[in-house]
Amino acid sequence: MSKQFWFVVGSQDLYGQEVLDTVARRSEEMAAWLSEKLPYPLVYKVTAMSSDQITKVMKEANYDDDCLGVVTWCHTFSPSKMWLTGLDLLQKPYCHLATQYNLEIPNDEIDMDFMNLNQAAHGDREHGFIAARLRKPRKVIAGYWKDEKVIERLSEFQKVAYGVHVSRNMKVMRFGDNMRDVAVTEGDKVEVQKVLGWEVNTWAVGDLVKVMNEVTDEEVEALFDTYKESYDINTDNIAAIRYQAKEEIAIKKMMDANNCKAFSNTFQDLYGMEQLPGLASQHLMSLGYGYGGEGDWKVSAMTAIMKAMGENGNGASAFMEDYTYHLVKGHEYSLGAHMLEVCPSLAADKPRIETHHLGIGMNEKDPARLVFEGKAGKGIVASLIDMGGRLRLIVQDIEAVKPIMQMPNLPVARVMWRALPDLTDGVECWITAGGAHHTVLSYDVTAEMMRDFAKFMGIEFVHIDKDTTVEKLEEELLVKDLVWKLR
Ligand code: MN
Repeated sequence: MSKQFWFVVGSQDLYGQEVLDTVARRSEEMAAWLSEKLPYPLVYKVTAMSSDQITKVMKEANYDDDCLGVVTWCHTFSPSKMWLTGLDLLQKPYCHLATQYNLEIPNDEIDMDFMNLNQAAHGDREHGFIAARLRKPRKVIAGYWKDEKVIERLSEFQKVAYGVHVSRNMKVMRFGDNMRDVAVTEGDKVEVQKVLGWEVNTWAVGDLVKVMNEVTDEEVEALFDTYKESYDINTDNIAAIRYQAKEEIAIKKMMDANNCKAFSNTFQDLYGMEQLPGLASQHLMSLGYGYGGEGDWKVSAMTAIMKAMGENGNGASAFMEDYTYHLVKGHEYSLGAHMLEVCPSLAADKPRIETHHLGIGMNEKDPARLVFEGKAGKGIVASLIDMGGRLRLIVQDIEAVKPIMQMPNLPVARVMWRALPDLTDGVECWITAGGAHHTVLSYDVTAEMMRDFAKFMGIEFVHIDKDTTVEKLEEELLVKDLVWKLR
């Protein structure tokens, strides 16, 4: 993997060459050790001692496409006016690792030489001031560099930075417009390009149909074999599965030809197609592509980004929709699903391919789709909405459960969860914040990661967790409205 992070260590020229050599040697050792534990390598770049040096390395970080972010640390004291220009210019995600080479204060050994070499407690404060003074978005992580929690948080910073990279290179392919009259799936495409980097453009459904018609039997057969290996086939309607394969191949060809990592379509515009892509969209999501139904390009891009931020660059995150509630006291749950398109990365067991009638839309034939239950576990749901003049990212903590009933007649993949703080307060908070019915549900991206993503992208963030009340949330939203008007 060529993607990497740069480790820039602060010092100055007051200490003599021996100290600087020690700092460089240790920094290299730490970067090498951490690289073994982190999702992306941490490459030691320089022990920085001047403004020119720091400005140069930050400019290089901006222009190097393989550099996903910068991690800084001050082994010794490093006067921060030296960092001002460089940090101000830095456009990549930035983490200040406030750590220390040694775990313990060595009782017998400690003298003033030791203090001069090991003064991160002192240096990291000076270093932190300048980023605060610059209002620089950053992740601050404090602790011993070999500590598990520190490694985990540094890993999460790296994954977020990768998400930032994916966002800034995001191209979304829209087939058809948003579903008629729906408000929350709309948004300012120029604003998202400026703020998040997304290029959101439209392609004709007719062009997709043309590409579908050029798909060969051999291509369909190869993908059909992949379906057979990955899923149980629970239908006699093999033609419908082959048709989905043809749709998938055509959509993928068009996305790859245009460097798109996400797509949207709508059941209101399937002109020339027999079925809404169901299995096709689901399998594309399992490959890491984003998808949003009813023309929801925002949730589509967010699905691709959050999948990229997950485990191994394609985690357990999926386009999701809140459908219906179980309101029995003490057993309150949300049931999430979609017409067809839920990513199998959420599945508890091997998904099965089924065909069923789909009443909504222009489906001439019964679309094939994957049916499964979502797995149990902690997670989040996330929704990006356009507030008019700014974007708001809303994240709610959830606890997914094994669905408490079989629902034998429900012909789609389903996930059941308990939203925090509880179902009714959670719903009241979500609705108060304006969260959409479409979300990205993730088992492996955390709320803290999404908060950092929002911080690096410069968008509003709202988190609904176990301690949120409607009253506190209303106040928070009022304050944020004022703050964002001033920006
Ligand atoms: Mn929907």
